[in-house]
Amino acid sequence: MESLEKMYIDGQWVSALAGKTRNIINPADGCVIATVVEGAAEDAQLAVAAAKRAFYEDGWMETPPVERARLMFALADALEQRTDKFAKLETLNNGKALREAECDVGDAAACFRYYAGLATKPHGQTYDVVDPMQTLVVREPIGVCGQIVPWNYPLLMAAWKLGPALAAGNTVIFKPSELTPLTAIKLFELIEAVGYPKGVANLVLGAGNTVGQEIAKNYDIDKVAFTGGTTTGRSIMMAATGNIKNISLELGGKSPNIIFADADFEAAVDWTLFAIFINQGEVCSAGSRLLIEESIHDEFIERLVERTKKIKVGPGLEEGVEMGPLISETHMNRVLDYVELGKKEGAKLMCGGQRILGDGLEKGYFVEPAIFTNTTPDMRIVQEEIFGPVLVVQKFKDEKEAIALANNTIYGLAGGVFTQDGAKGLRVIKKLRAGITWINAYNPTYNEAPWGGYKQSGIGRELGTFGFEEYTEVKQININLDPSPIGWFKN
Ligand code: NAD
Repeated sequence: MESLEKMYIDGQWVSALAGKTRNIINPADGCVIATVVEGAAEDAQLAVAAAKRAFYEDGWMETPPVERARLMFALADALEQRTDKFAKLETLNNGKALREAECDVGDAAACFRYYAGLATKPHGQTYDVVDPMQTLVVREPIGVCGQIVPWNYPLLMAAWKLGPALAAGNTVIFKPSELTPLTAIKLFELIEAVGYPKGVANLVLGAGNTVGQEIAKNYDIDKVAFTGGTTTGRSIMMAATGNIKNISLELGGKSPNIIFADADFEAAVDWTLFAIFINQGEVCSAGSRLLIEESIHDEFIERLVERTKKIKVGPGLEEGVEMGPLISETHMNRVLDYVELGKKEGAKLMCGGQRILGDGLEKGYFVEPAIFTNTTPDMRIVQEEIFGPVLVVQKFKDEKEAIALANNTIYGLAGGVFTQDGAKGLRVIKKLRAGITWINAYNPTYNEAPWGGYKQSGIGRELGTFGFEEYTEVKQININLDPSPIGWFKN
């Protein structure tokens, strides 16, 4: 990368007004891999002014859907052609294993393609109301949208946000996590290259309490879409009240993965590993609570521990690595503190939970995947999102208890059920207070289907037609087909 990476505001690559910069770290070895400009509120304000002008004055709001689709298909192609480069950069910055980063790039391109296609599809409704009136319902872009994303899927979250917003005809101010801005910067280079008009898509780099807060409270931003922690979501919601912004929030989770005794044993063990340990456990929808039927508990845990110990942890760019480092030293320490807390609370640590210091990994933020059994529902490790490779196990006797335990947190993002009894699987899923669910699987996500949570896991949905609609206002147009006087007042 170049020596100083800049922000993209109003079609220009710019430094921060205050001249600040930030070093970006490779979590696999703690080394600086890039220096980027560090924006603040005043930089975000410039981006907002550009986005407002692009929307209202430069004509983006009237751009035909087919043109928005053309640009986005071109962006998807440009990204896909550079899969290798983007995947390596994502791994370098985020830490995740390269095979996961490669999937993220493919998924991001597919997301752009999905929304490019959706831009030109029918979105309105018509009603034959009372003669001679005809009612049309049209969807229009909301206007200027602020978008804030976390560090766990930097490129993919950018696609989930920019795809529907730009396809629906909005202009955007996008803020990546201050820890992982590198693939977003490269993505904006492609946005520029494929020819998006200036001011339509703006990239502002900086911290949450400066740039992020400005996006949340700015009066000229019509909508704020946020993915991140529930506490941050709450503060964004409060900051957004000033001008009654439209809000979408994709927040945290502590999702249950429920295994019944009649499940296919090996398949359930395999999916359980995938549910919690993919992406180092830094996944909002992670199956971070394993709910297991009492009769198979011991046998299941034994097999799970055996396989967990074999997960190959190391630098994501290294051949054969299955799990990378955590994102930062601060986050690693937070996860390690939860492991200590779990022990103090009386849970039994079955494996892992230590920082990995040997094998040349001592400079990175590597943690062994951990499993806790002997938990009780009130323990903090059971209730709070750890956002790392730590699985907590809860035992249940029957279906009723499984459902009660599954729903017993403030969150409601995701959940899975493993059973060979199809009716039971669906019965349990229908009782789960969660927005994203699986039967005999855990974690696969599709651009076609809505993504989002119940309870304190968020507001609104991303992906699918639902995600597109979140970036539209709905207008009714009532047309009098016989424009004669109404004759209500007689004189
Ligand atoms: P975070 O909430 O700390 O930060 C997310 C983003 O918000 C970053 O860009 C950050 O700079 C910004 N931010 C921080 N404080 C802010 C503030 N006061 N005002 C405005 N912006 C602010 O989250 P994180 O640590 O980056 O990511 C982990 C969290 O994200 C987890 O809780 C995880 O569950 C959640 N997450 C949710 C989903 C989902 O789809 N529901 C997806 C991925 C991650």
